[in-house]
Amino acid sequence: MEGWRLYAGEMVTTQIYSRGILNTNLLEAMKNIPRHMFVPLEYQRLSYSDCAVPIGLDQTISQPYMVAKMTDLLVPSPEEGTKILEIGTGSGYQAAVLSEMGMVVNSIERIEELGIRAQKVLRELGYSAKVLVSDGRNGYEPDSPYDGIIVTAASDRIEDAWMNQLANGGRIVIPLRIKPGLEQLLVRVKRGSQCQDTWYDYCQFVPLLKGVIVDDPFS
Ligand code: SAH
Repeated sequence: MEGWRLYAGEMVTTQIYSRGILNTNLLEAMKNIPRHMFVPLEYQRLSYSDCAVPIGLDQTISQPYMVAKMTDLLVPSPEEGTKILEIGTGSGYQAAVLSEMGMVVNSIERIEELGIRAQKVLRELGYSAKVLVSDGRNGYEPDSPYDGIIVTAASDRIEDAWMNQLANGGRIVIPLRIKPGLEQLLVRVKRGSQCQDTWYDYCQFVPLLKGVIVDDPFS
């Protein structure tokens, strides 16, 4: 897709900066990532549009503004090497944004086919983000504690595993289901055995589901 830098620049100016997200590190990262590479060919013309876009297997790549908003809430002032766990890799775009900003990213996807595809694109673009195929509700203990956990699928609860794997002072950003078909972004900061909650935008996400879908080579 020739001229993608122009589209990415326009996307950042009109959809993100104009809505009050001023974090330069984040804006620059989103300008520098070829978002269309995370979208299947038949939907690539929509990849810089102001909406979620299908990526196959009934899943979507999140709307650019939502990616920006959640990233901004997750790490207001990231440092090189800030460690992040993402639940719901999907296309891998969110993981690319965090990586481009200098963070170390583990991302969990329950659908093997998506996980493999995302890992391939991330690698092609030179990001070291690690994609794991498993049920993200359990988090990923071996690399914990994380400075931040970002859940990019709608859940009606915050798993104990996530809170346990979060560093003290770390934050979790999650679209929490408040009614059928409606979520609200919640930021929970871990403060010892306590936590501090702040609510943000209403939003809609595909649901967080149980278990793993692995390709059956015999089917
Ligand atoms: N962050 C993604 C968008 C995610 S869409 C992006 O940038 O493109 C939500 C993803 O969460 C889907 O791919 C879905 O398969 C995955 N998902 C749903 N439940 C899950 C679970 N329990 N563990 C891991 N991934 C899950």
